[in-house]
Amino acid sequence: MKLKRLFTAVLVSFSMTAMMGQQIQLPPIPVDPAVRIGKLDNGLTYYIRHNEYPEHVANFYIAQRVGSIQEEESQRGLAHFLEHMAFNGSEHFKGNGIIDFTRSLGVEFGSDLNAYTSIDQTVYRICNVPTKRATALDSCLLILKDWSNGLSLEAEEIDKERDVVHNEWRLGEGPSQRMLQRALPKVYPGSKYGERLPIGLMSVIDSFKPQTLRAYYQKWYRPDNQAIIVVGDVDVDNMEAKIKNLFGGIKVAANAPKVVAEAVPDNKEAIYVYEKDKEMQLTNVFVLMKHEATPEAYKSYVDYLIQDYSISVISQMLNQRLAEMTQDEACPFFQAFADDGQYWLSKTKDCFELIGVPKEGKDLETLQVLYREAKRAREFGFTATEYERAKADYLSGLEKRYINRDKRKNDEFGNAYRDHYLTNEPIPPLDALYQTMQKIAPSIPLMAINHILHELISVTDSNLVVMMFAQEKEGKVYPSEKDMAAAIAAARAEKLEAYVDNVKDEPLLDVATLKKGKITKEKENKTFGYKELSLSNGATVILKKTDFKDDEVRMQAFSMGGKSLYGEADYTNLKVFDMAIGMSGLGNFSYTELQKALAGKEVNADLSLVNTRQYLTAHSTPKDIETMMQLSYLYFTNVKKDEKQFQNLMTQLDMALKNKSLSPDDVFSDSVSTTIYAHNPRFTNLDVKDLKDINYDRILAIVKERFQNAGQFTFVISGNFDEQTIRPLIEQYIAALPSTKAKAENFKECITLAKGEVVNQFKVKTESPKASAREMWYAEMPYTLENDVKIDAVGQILSMIYLKTIREDESAAYSCGAAGYFNTGTNQPKAQLQAYCPMNPDKSELAIRLLHEGIAKMAKEVDADQLQKVKDYMLKQADINAKRNDYWINTISTFKEYGLDMFTDYKKTVEALTVESVRDFLNQLLKSGNHIEVIMTPEMK
Ligand SMILES: [Zn+2]
Repeated sequence: MKLKRLFTAVLVSFSMTAMMGQQIQLPPIPVDPAVRIGKLDNGLTYYIRHNEYPEHVANFYIAQRVGSIQEEESQRGLAHFLEHMAFNGSEHFKGNGIIDFTRSLGVEFGSDLNAYTSIDQTVYRICNVPTKRATALDSCLLILKDWSNGLSLEAEEIDKERDVVHNEWRLGEGPSQRMLQRALPKVYPGSKYGERLPIGLMSVIDSFKPQTLRAYYQKWYRPDNQAIIVVGDVDVDNMEAKIKNLFGGIKVAANAPKVVAEAVPDNKEAIYVYEKDKEMQLTNVFVLMKHEATPEAYKSYVDYLIQDYSISVISQMLNQRLAEMTQDEACPFFQAFADDGQYWLSKTKDCFELIGVPKEGKDLETLQVLYREAKRAREFGFTATEYERAKADYLSGLEKRYINRDKRKNDEFGNAYRDHYLTNEPIPPLDALYQTMQKIAPSIPLMAINHILHELISVTDSNLVVMMFAQEKEGKVYPSEKDMAAAIAAARAEKLEAYVDNVKDEPLLDVATLKKGKITKEKENKTFGYKELSLSNGATVILKKTDFKDDEVRMQAFSMGGKSLYGEADYTNLKVFDMAIGMSGLGNFSYTELQKALAGKEVNADLSLVNTRQYLTAHSTPKDIETMMQLSYLYFTNVKKDEKQFQNLMTQLDMALKNKSLSPDDVFSDSVSTTIYAHNPRFTNLDVKDLKDINYDRILAIVKERFQNAGQFTFVISGNFDEQTIRPLIEQYIAALPSTKAKAENFKECITLAKGEVVNQFKVKTESPKASAREMWYAEMPYTLENDVKIDAVGQILSMIYLKTIREDESAAYSCGAAGYFNTGTNQPKAQLQAYCPMNPDKSELAIRLLHEGIAKMAKEVDADQLQKVKDYMLKQADINAKRNDYWINTISTFKEYGLDMFTDYKKTVEALTVESVRDFLNQLLKSGNHIEVIMTPEMK
């Protein structure tokens, strides 16, 4: 399909262009003047932007337009291997110098310091670097410089990394990856894309010569393939001078090879691919209709924004139809999606795609129905009401971004500049984008959208690709290529009728019938900076006005009781409670009607039960606070039974749980819950045999019971609201909630943790060998700020020890870590420490030994350097948290429930940590003797 032809339709629809009676190109999209973009003589591109949200930190990136597609056959996997080597020695940072140095700035490896390699790009980043010291910024630029052309790539370091990458492969080696690897050559016949998954070949990883890696590095890592991006609280002129100075001297050979886009050939005949795997739990059906990708140069013009808008509303409208279909029990799939975008791995080809997850035995039927719906949309187009909703959603999403334009984080800019460099994605100033699209979107008629849809969906075999990734099972009959082709042919032959959009045209709630209440009392809390309102129905509302995000208001209401109040007969109902309520309707609206009614609103609300409490959580933008209040009112008073949705959930659970035993990760997770909670059926994971016990009416009765007494709830609202506007809404909705005047409830003690030393070691048989370990230590302790800080620090230090000894030194696991936290859902709060370790099966004994040795060593002596790094990190994190609405909601809730102030003295408490106090705390925890260990290793075939 030719894009020019496609968008002529849209252009004609503009009165402006229509009047001129000819096709003209729309104006270019302006580039945000707030970013300094430049290019050095050697071809290096740079982007620098000053951004003060948050202040005193900056992000550094180097983006390269090369990846695994540039590899020779003998180099398969080396683009990604090279990315690992970037942290193992360079000109200015020997050994693990980069990791050690950035950690000293409070930058964590794995999160803030990280990299990824994909098929056509490799990006490295150092984020949240404190900017107060100029030398820190210089050093980060020096790291970028080393990455760009100063890696050591020593033979010894390369050898050490082979196992690490091999383990990463093993960890990712699941059914999807195995099938993808087999499918790609068929999906990309005659193209390198079929053979360049970044993880590569283990035969190459295990044996390549250092020179082969160096050759890739020297050939492709060059300034003319690289962009340096710096965003944050920096001086732009100064930064630009430093970049010029540092990178200007790098030379590019005159005969350096160009990066050439790898083409994806068209296919005249349809391509059918069927792959199966024993560990696959659900089948996936893909229908892909390939078309040309948007040329990069074209993305500079406003036409591209229109294209983006059109595709966004089209996929939303089709997705809504597909979601609505799943309400019907006869629908052959659980879920289905449609979109238009990149054809799998290749940015040189795009496609319109439909993806479905069939119910058991309905693979071919799903294929036929997906194709049918695409064809229906193509033949009859969308309806006016569908388009109105999609347009409203688009504009409201755009407005949300616009409202928050002054509070954008460094990340958002960094990623946008990366995409601008790598694929010429536009980077307009947000106000210009907002104004342009506010004007354009409403003027694009449905007819134009339907015309584009007609072009995107093809009904011929040319460029059609159909794939199924399915479960391999004894006795199963697999569809052949012929069967798949027959399903498509059948769909093409069908005579269809237009879609009918059923919309409920009434307000969510008849506000006139509510019995409005009053704010009866109020007081201020200076420590946390909030106002506390008492309402006439007994409910409490806490208002914490913040300016962290201009487009965000968050609300959480809670009270005590939760799951703990229900016994064995309801265990299964409790396990599916959140899911079942999440898919129910509200008031007079079924789930689907509700989704439609909320078009154009940025709002969400949910109910949940945890062991000790019941919650309502909601969020919205300032303009949709009233809708948020209405949804909340309905959740408290009128959750509507939606039988269709419930049946759909049951079928989904049945299928998912039936196949759970096929996945080693699920088997492990089941064993962990069973062992940790001492086989208490309240805490075991949901099993397929439990499904018969689920009773939807009973779940709805539990909601009523838990939420009938609004008087015992505390509502914490944090965000950018206007107090004068929100107060009447609180009286109108929250104070109108029914309350029973009954005394506040408490939870019942119900947590049962295994006691003493408990070991559960078992073997599983799997397609590829998998091994995993989980350790838990705990002790009853008073829940205090000091103990909370200590258990957190212990977890972080232990995590560092394990990463160093298990992953870095011995390659006995690809990832591992530990975390400490308080279990407060009990009358005897417990400090809990957990460690996880998906192990290298060949080295599982060593990994387990190191798990034991690590904690034993720490109990004898805490490393001062490690403690310092953890303290720095916690202090930095405290500043970041203090600017988050969800942090405040949690902190205020903790204060209201436990009377604990986790904020005021937090930093002081962190600073006071010493190697002795942390060590003593750990010993106190270990003294309890409670240690639970779950270990899974593969059974040899
Ligand atoms: Zn990796």
